Amino acid sequence: MTRRPTVEWQVAGACNYDCSYCIQSPRFRRGRPRQAELEATLAFLADLPGTWEIKCSGGEAFAHPLFLDLVVPGLVALTPHRISVLTNLSADREALLLFAALTAGRLAVVSASLHAEHVEPADFAAKVRWFADLVGPEVDVVVNQVVLPGREAHALACRRVVEGQGLRWFPQLYKEKRPPSERTPGGDPMRVADFPDEEALRAVIGDAPGPRQANVAPSYLGWRCFAGVDYLVIDKDGQAWACRTSKRHGQGHLGNVFDGSARRWTAPAPCPYQLCPCTVPANRGMIEGI
Ligand code: SF4
Ligand code: SF4
Repeated sequence: MTRRPTVEWQVAGACNYDCSYCIQSPRFRRGRPRQAELEATLAFLADLPGTWEIKCSGGEAFAHPLFLDLVVPGLVALTPHRISVLTNLSADREALLLFAALTAGRLAVVSASLHAEHVEPADFAAKVRWFADLVGPEVDVVVNQVVLPGREAHALACRRVVEGQGLRWFPQLYKEKRPPSERTPGGDPMRVADFPDEEALRAVIGDAPGPRQANVAPSYLGWRCFAGVDYLVIDKDGQAWACRTSKRHGQGHLGNVFDGSARRWTAPAPCPYQLCPCTVPANRGMIEGI
């Protein structure tokens, strides 16, 4: 797969939802970079060579009051990059209309997360359909949903609703903190939850889903990966990391974009981790052989 350089930018730590299964604990799900910090991040992104995909996430990106006033206009005016967003799509239609107008011709991927604790799936799917029609077929619009053990039938019902709107549905298996009894030195503190009903799970995600079909957090241990080189994660505090897993392990720190110290690595390296929890690197060609 051709490598497509990508930055995941946590535009806001805060979120307007409080999902029971959120991978980010409420303690960390807070905070918003200040204007000067956002401007420093934009300057860092503007300096990246070539055209990148900048995937804005959170918390909830639209929950930052400056998302539509500074972040998105800044990305359009100051950088040549394509813009993506991971959002719960709770922003009102006026805000979404503005977002679509600002990003016209530059929008790459919209990942709309369905959180059935907060929205009716049918209403949500209809809103995503409206937005997909607004931005047009050149934008990849996908509906993500966390699949919880014991809730496979509900996930399947949601899948049908989403696909009934002609949209792509992308399941993400629930990840949880590893119980103390399973923790080993250097081992991953997270794991995919147990899904005892294998048949029910297969009905939802298929037999052997690839990274475009489902997020099952596979292991790419030992595979050559361009994380830190052509893929990086910038958190709400401006810290830049090679990938989410490296951050969790306190490794792969690239510096801070707020103070100008962030530097990309110059060469790929074998993945040292047992869990790759996010499909973005795999789906952007960062892992050789995928
Ligand atoms: S919308 Fe996303 S970030 Fe916000 S609480 Fe739910 S899972 Fe967490
Ligand atoms: S394969 Fe995944 S976990 Fe491993 S270094 Fe690359 S992005 Fe990180």
